[in-house]
Amino acid sequence: MPSPIEKLQKFFKLEAERGYDNRAVVGGLDKIVPAWDTEAQTLNYPETLIETVRTRLLNYPNLESEERSQALADLLTLLKEFQSEHPQLAANQAQPAAPRKPIPPARPKPARPVEAGPADDLLPPPPAAPNLRPARPVPPKSEPVQGLDAPLTVISGIGTRYAQSLRSLGLETLNDLLYFFPRRYDDYSQFKPINRLEYGDELTVLGTIQSIIVRPIRGGQSQLTEAVITDGTGFLRVTWFNSPYIANKLKSGDQIVLSGKVDMYLGRKVMNNPDWESLEQEHLHTNRIVPVYPLTAQVTQKNLRRILHQTVTFWASRLTDHLPNSVREETNLPDLSTAIRNAHFPDSMDSLTAARRRLAFDEIFLLQLGVQRQKQSWQSLTAQVFEPPAGWLDEQIQRLPYELTNAQRKALADLESDLRSGRPMNRLLQGDVGSGKTVVAGLAAAVVIQAGAQVAFMAPTSILAEQHYRSLSRLLAAEDGSNLLRPAEIALLVGDTSEAEKAAIRSGLADGSIRLVIGTHALIEDPITFQRLQMAVIDEQHRFGVAQRAALRGKGENPHLLVMTATPIPRSLALTLYGDLDLAVMDEMPVGRMPIETHVLHPLERERAYHLLRTQIEQGRQAFIIYPLVEKGEREDDSKAAVEEHQRLQREVFPHLKLGLLHGRMRPDEKEQVMARFRDGEYQILVSTSVVEVGVDVPNATVMLIEGANRFGLAQLHQFRGRVGRGPDQSYCLLIPESENAVENERLVAMEQSSDGFVLAERDLEQRGPGDFLGSRQSGFMELKMASLTDVRLIEIAREQAQKLFAMDPELQLPEHANLSRVFDRFWAATKGELS
Ligand code: ADP
Ligand code: MG
Repeated sequence: MPSPIEKLQKFFKLEAERGYDNRAVVGGLDKIVPAWDTEAQTLNYPETLIETVRTRLLNYPNLESEERSQALADLLTLLKEFQSEHPQLAANQAQPAAPRKPIPPARPKPARPVEAGPADDLLPPPPAAPNLRPARPVPPKSEPVQGLDAPLTVISGIGTRYAQSLRSLGLETLNDLLYFFPRRYDDYSQFKPINRLEYGDELTVLGTIQSIIVRPIRGGQSQLTEAVITDGTGFLRVTWFNSPYIANKLKSGDQIVLSGKVDMYLGRKVMNNPDWESLEQEHLHTNRIVPVYPLTAQVTQKNLRRILHQTVTFWASRLTDHLPNSVREETNLPDLSTAIRNAHFPDSMDSLTAARRRLAFDEIFLLQLGVQRQKQSWQSLTAQVFEPPAGWLDEQIQRLPYELTNAQRKALADLESDLRSGRPMNRLLQGDVGSGKTVVAGLAAAVVIQAGAQVAFMAPTSILAEQHYRSLSRLLAAEDGSNLLRPAEIALLVGDTSEAEKAAIRSGLADGSIRLVIGTHALIEDPITFQRLQMAVIDEQHRFGVAQRAALRGKGENPHLLVMTATPIPRSLALTLYGDLDLAVMDEMPVGRMPIETHVLHPLERERAYHLLRTQIEQGRQAFIIYPLVEKGEREDDSKAAVEEHQRLQREVFPHLKLGLLHGRMRPDEKEQVMARFRDGEYQILVSTSVVEVGVDVPNATVMLIEGANRFGLAQLHQFRGRVGRGPDQSYCLLIPESENAVENERLVAMEQSSDGFVLAERDLEQRGPGDFLGSRQSGFMELKMASLTDVRLIEIAREQAQKLFAMDPELQLPEHANLSRVFDRFWAATKGELS
């Protein structure tokens, strides 16, 4: 067995091969944290190592693909260092860990029936008898929750070894199993024969493998698995990139099910990197809609489906519904038993939809109850009061080279009143890109600093941290003592800060001689202590996990907390997801900003775009050209499109200009250098992938050209657009989609019509659902398995219901809420009190 270190290395390698799609581990890399943690603790790895791995991995799903590669590279370096420093320790293996909280089954497990066959529990028992047999004796009615907390080994056919494999899917108890939902459903009535496939179809195909081979490509650096599938009506060529193991699992003559997108290659229909599964006859014939579950090594679809069928069949009807009847009646949702049954084995698509609605409702409802409670408990804490002398803040505002907008004044007034309140500020400052959040946060920080306390300011990337460092230094510091601080009292702490400098900053923060520190997650990963941290500011908060926000806050005693975001979350969603935070919205741009002229161009009109770039550059301006990340599989790495296009543009299109290149595979210091050179005008054009997204400020840039624009959400395109139009000159945003696909391109036209991030976010929400937005909140503190699939209306209904219930029984003490209270505790158990 590999050591915990080797396991990580293996996962990371696999993840890199997959192009950082966060699918090397089922459910996402963050899912390995609990098991890994336990093993690492057992082996007494250093706490700092464990902590770093934990925070980095928990945040991993939140990162853009490019940052992911960086995050893993960083961790690999760390692991390497650890291996060379403690070779013995790093090679040790943990003993198979016992379940962390072993809860004995309510009753002893029934002896395995003799006909269950060989003792090896990886082998499925014979199919005939066990399917509908109760998993275990009926538990006494009085302890339903205890029954569902029983370990999986109570199910016949699951022994300790198999239970171990299921653990890596996050399954430890019967309850986990009931809430382990299919990642998709195959509706076998919806198949299309191969001869009727059309380009662009996304569907399932069923056929027999005629041939399957693996061949080396790119001079042997990569491998392509190629299969030809037939269903009697035609042939389909299927390829998988760098997955030679598939050829070991499949052979010609096997029947398989493929799900994916139909593409064209040399005039013929192909599928690239489809999901695949061996065909399982018995389920096709018994169920029309078949659940397909996430898998892991040693757990087959067939076996898992059998176990779930058995468990759901037995348990679903025995579940007590935790939703009060009144709520269920008012919302017209199915009861829990029906919902769980139909979420796994639906008898129609309608019953599936209703089931998912109900389960999504539960998640939002419980989330909202928790958020309400959290808010109440925040409000019961005391914090230090900060109230500057009368007129002091106005003086600071007078020093600014510009007038604050009304929105900025209003937001600042909110922050002032929070600081005065004696309760910890817990506020989300939401403002479109360029609305001027930094100065507002900076002025609030000034209030805290002038009273002698310290402030920490955390940003997701070093480029951004450095930018804040410079603008806050400009705002708050002067060499000659004519401002609040001296330059030496402000520090910048990022990953690349030298060890010597870090040590100096650490001691300056500990003894209070540094009053304001700006940094990346280095702020929480390094063992930093503050003399008196009274305010924490987190910029682009959605890029941080809950654990990281809590870690920063934990460096002080009930410090005031300000989180900022440029993601314009629609209000109804913000209230649901961030209901524990007070909201300040800046919906106004500084005066004098000219609207950015935006055009969607056809791919054939690219030359026009280049012409505009040239004209602008002749006038001394600069331009961005953005390329999307290339999807996994076909390309070797994410940055390839940008790298190739950079070369082509430099050679063929703009031979007389200087073009910089920025992508996620570059080291942070390299990125920083390129950004700095662009900012300083050494490059006229910056070719970049989406790493440039976050708030970097280059006022002289006036053109934002986005290739493959259809691949981005409107909210993200709006963020890109916000990179230009920051100076006095007319700016342009040109969107070039990959194809003439009418629907997609109509979506992009919204960018021409609106410059309001909130409007665009609403559109995104209508078109793509709330998944993107929910994702930003969910990591680390709970899993919204169903809610991201649902609609905003349901979210609003769930919020209303939760508020009503909270108003009536905030502690869930009424007897009719006893069940709800138990489910609530279970739902929130992992992260009590650590919401934001
Ligand atoms: P964001 O809200 O996107 O973080 P920034 O804080 O980076 O925006 O501000 C964007 C730019 O606008 C900065 O260059 C900043 O100096 C400038 N700025 C901020 N407030 C005003 C204002 N009231 N008037 C003019 N310029 C402003
Ligand atoms: Mg910003």
